[in-house]
This record gives sequence, C-alpha cells and structure tokens, in this order.
Amino acid sequence: MERIRNYRELLDALFDGVYFLDPERKIVYWNSAAERITGFSAAEVVGKSCADGILRHVDENGTDLCKGLCPAGKTLRDGLMREADVFLHHKEGHRVPVSVRVTPFRNRKGEIAGAIELFSDGSSKNAMIEKIRELEGLALLDPLTLSGNRRFLEMSLQGRLQEKARTGICFGVLFADVDHFKRVNDTYGHQVGDQVLRMVCSALRSSLRPFDDLGRWGGEEFVVLLRNVDQRGLERVAERLRIMVKKSFLSLDGLEIGVTVSMGGTLARDEDTPTSLLQRADEHMYRSKIAGRDCTHTDEGRIPPLSDPKGPA
Ligand code: GH3
Ligand code: MG
Ligand code: MG
Repeated sequence: MERIRNYRELLDALFDGVYFLDPERKIVYWNSAAERITGFSAAEVVGKSCADGILRHVDENGTDLCKGLCPAGKTLRDGLMREADVFLHHKEGHRVPVSVRVTPFRNRKGEIAGAIELFSDGSSKNAMIEKIRELEGLALLDPLTLSGNRRFLEMSLQGRLQEKARTGICFGVLFADVDHFKRVNDTYGHQVGDQVLRMVCSALRSSLRPFDDLGRWGGEEFVVLLRNVDQRGLERVAERLRIMVKKSFLSLDGLEIGVTVSMGGTLARDEDTPTSLLQRADEHMYRSKIAGRDCTHTDEGRIPPLSDPKGPA
C-alpha cells in the first residue's frame, strides 16, 4: 500500500496528464496534471467510461474519436502502443490540443488488463499569465476574455504592416463573428453569454501559434493576425479555428451549449492600412453570413469544408 501511495505521489508530481483505463475503458486513475489540463477533477471522471463522452477527443478535422477511433480503445483491443495529436474537451468548453501516448498494461497471464494514457498540452501557463499582465499594464486587455482589446488589435495591425513594408513578410487577418449570438443571451441569459464568449476565445487561442495575435474587436467579434502565412496557410488555420469553435461546448444543467462562427480572411497588401485590411476581412465575413454562417470566405471565395462534423460534440 505504501508503495502504491508513493507511485501516486510521483504521478501527481508529473507535468504531463496521466490516466489509467480498465479493459472496459473505465477511468480508474486521473492525476493532478490531467485535472489542470482538462479542468475536470478526479472525482468527476474516475469511475466513468472514457467512451461515455467525458473526454470527447476530436482530431483536427473535428472527427469524433470516441466512437471506434479512440487511440486508447484501439490499444485496449490490439495491445499496441500509440501516439496521436488530438483535441480534448476542456470543462470550460473549449478545445485543447494535446499529444497523447497510450501504452497497454498486461496481467500475469499476458492478457490486456488496461491502458495508460499520457498527454501534454505543450502550453506554458506562465507565459500566458505574463502576457495577460503585460497587456493589462498597457491598457490593451479585454477583461472579459483576457485577450487583447480593440486598441491592441489596431496597434498590432499597424506594427505588422510596418514589418511587412520593411521585411516583405506577409501576414493574414481573420475576422470571426459568433453566429446568432443574440439567441444565446436571450435563451440562457447574459452571464452564460459571457461564458460562451470566453469559451470561443479560448478555442481560438488554443488553435493558434504563440506568435499569432488574438483579440476581441467588440461584442461577439474576434480578430486574429496570422504571421507569415500564404493563402493556403490562411485557409488551413481558418478551417481549424472554425471547427474547434464548433466542437466546443459548455455543459450546463445537462444541456450542451455550443456556437459557430462566420469568418472572413484576407492577406495584407502593400497599399493596405489597418482600416482597409479589417474592412476587407469584415466584408468576407459578411459573405459567410449570407452563405448560411459557420463557414469562411477569403479573397479567393468560400473555403470548401474539409469535413463538416456535426456540432457541438
Ligand atoms: P449574426 O449571426 O447575424 O451575427 O447574429 P447575432 O445574434 O450574433 O448578431 P447581433 O449583432 O444581432 O447580436 C450580437 C449580440 O451580442 C447582441 C449583444 O447583446 C451581444 N453582446 C455584445 N457584447 C456582449 C458581451 O460582452 N456579453 C454578452 N453576453 N453579450 C454581448
Ligand atoms: Mg457582430
Ligand atoms: Mg454575431
């Protein structure tokens, strides 16, 4: 028993998330890092089956992995080790990209007796806190979403345009507007609306690289600046962001509350000003609204959906 307790302390001290599954995919152990990365406490998940939809892993196309494609489920069937990059469902709703590694463990008879899954989020919490403090000090923070505010975005746009003139490095702008957001407020109240805005912002942030900029332009509108992208790169990121928002959901009194975004994307041109760039991205976003929402238009028209997973699960 003493030895088991020591192992537990060791596992709880790890930076990576760790959990154990029994052969029926029931979670029997969940360490502290798993709590931090997912927002779910051990008490909330231990005893539940990972197939019950508690983790709800999806891949980058938004495909639901819990039904048949779950890496841990496959390992429990064939006894092979696996690695995969997936997006898990955080308790606050948004998606978190994680690298997972699954290893089977066997009993004395050599039968598969369960699986261990290790996962890491690769994000640095300290770097994020530092960034929030910095923005706050400069009055560039949006207090609701803890991302940049409109002034931050205006300054970043100006900075990127100057950088482009100096070095030729191209960048892209995405304008995202939450679809039918008024209905969320009307149905669930303003407070839940605020929570949904935070969730959308986290979903966007989790899918970006550290050197891309994100801010709330106002209301339910977000702007993303993508460094060093071409048209294809812009399309790829835009699709990933759209899908990750669509696959995020808040769990509230047994309900799953999710939203979609309509987006407009454009690449910066030599003659652009911050206003002309944003205006173009906004016009493309508006085309996405007219086309039925939950899609993205760029300078080259509508991005054909890679796959169109059903939201929000
Ligand atoms: P569409 O798909 O055409 O974009 O429809 P929509 O309902 O999202 O658009 P509309 O512009 O009609 O409504 C936006 C709503 O966003 C109205 C406003 O009350 C709400 N809103 C703006 N800022 C906030 C905020 O900070 N918190 C909350 N909860 N709601 C906000
Ligand atoms: Mg709007
Ligand atoms: Mg809207």
